Amino acid sequence: MINGIGLLQNGYAKNATATAILHRRIPNEPPKCVASSGNYLGLVDGRQILDATGGAAVAAIGHGNARVKAAMMRQMDEVSYVHTSFFTTTASEELGRMLIDSTKGQMARAVIYSSGSEAMEASMKLARQYFLELSQPDRTKFIARKESYHGTTIGALSMGGHLARRKFFEPLLLGNITHVSACNEYRGPMEGESVREYVARLARELDDEFERLGPETVCAFVAEPVSGAALGCVPAVPGYFQAMKAVCDKHGALLIVDEVMCGMGRTGTMHAWEQEGIVPDIQTIGKGLGGGYQPVAGILIGHKVITAITNGTGAFAHGQTYQGHPVACAAAVEVLRIIQEHSLVDNVRRMGALLGRMLKQRLSTHDHVGDIRGKGLFWGIEFVLDKATKQPFPPAMHIANGITDKGLAAPYNISLYYGTGTVDGRCGDHILLAPPYNVTETDVKIIVNLTVRVIEDFFADDIQ
Ligand code: PLP
Repeated sequence: MINGIGLLQNGYAKNATATAILHRRIPNEPPKCVASSGNYLGLVDGRQILDATGGAAVAAIGHGNARVKAAMMRQMDEVSYVHTSFFTTTASEELGRMLIDSTKGQMARAVIYSSGSEAMEASMKLARQYFLELSQPDRTKFIARKESYHGTTIGALSMGGHLARRKFFEPLLLGNITHVSACNEYRGPMEGESVREYVARLARELDDEFERLGPETVCAFVAEPVSGAALGCVPAVPGYFQAMKAVCDKHGALLIVDEVMCGMGRTGTMHAWEQEGIVPDIQTIGKGLGGGYQPVAGILIGHKVITAITNGTGAFAHGQTYQGHPVACAAAVEVLRIIQEHSLVDNVRRMGALLGRMLKQRLSTHDHVGDIRGKGLFWGIEFVLDKATKQPFPPAMHIANGITDKGLAAPYNISLYYGTGTVDGRCGDHILLAPPYNVTETDVKIIVNLTVRVIEDFFADDIQ
């Protein structure tokens, strides 16, 4: 079977030969990437693929950056690894300082892990410990959102409301996490409902959920400022986060903001929450933090949480072998320096506005493009069967996979990130665009031209 005929999905080769690696789709072997530089990935067949998504919104400064490589080499020559129970390093201290400075001191401390899922797990445990420090042991529950994705480990997956990713593992998932509606301007508001009324309704729903669970039993509400993988780059509507924070404050619970995908400059400010008029109690970061040069993620911790732990047990009861890894920290420091020195977050705002404008100009009238939304260099395009009713395509049609496959194939040679619609048919398939922060106007035009061609040709040629 392994040598059998594979479906052409996500550019995966047909008739793949057996490999020792368990690829994401058995038996299909993905195209082999043998080079990477700037915005391009070089394949073994000689094609150059335009990486319009930086993987999953990871490659914040593009590929093959010589400065980051040199910084990592320097770090390996200096200290390649220490255990954080016993030692610290210049690289991890520097990264922590830069991260806290990037919040203008509104967050107090950082802890560095290796993946966004680990960061989400840590955020949950930290919230729980915070309430133990305050002698509120009954706080054990979390409220998260439907159509969200927070990672793949059991705690993080339990927080996520992504039904397709949860479904095999439902019996293993945590029972102390419930989900309220996501904030989705395209699909959420009722007929004639203003944004203000919509926000008020979502705040009531959250408030009701606190009451239903017993407010004194809830640790935190968890949400992404811009919903990435699950919904497809859906920014919160104005006032949403302020309203949610007010509900959390009313019940004495924490607000955990997941910026693993939308953070570190991706939406046009270093932290997406800066645009929401709130400061989270705990924030998770990842992906763009290391720009893909190293697996690196982390949490930023607010002052009141740090104060409670400092005045209490004095230690966050959560440690990992590779926490604060010096080479990962050195890579992240260099990525951050490059972002700062070249004012790349300003470029994200400028190029992001251009990207959004061009996508809307070129695709808004397409029969199957339901919504184009995003912020900074983080844009999503949602596809619908029927534009008037917003009816999604049946999930079995794998529309977003098909578009991604087409993009990866010649002559398009562009990498787009696919997101499937919800299995209950509430939301449609989407693709994401998340190019590096240093894209030029020319790059943006090429990305838009190719994306438009892929979408138009897909619906013209591949859908009966
Ligand atoms: N949180 C969000 C918002 C994400 O998009 C992801 C990954 O896509 C995660 C958490 C988990 O991160 P990782 O895949 O690095 O574990």
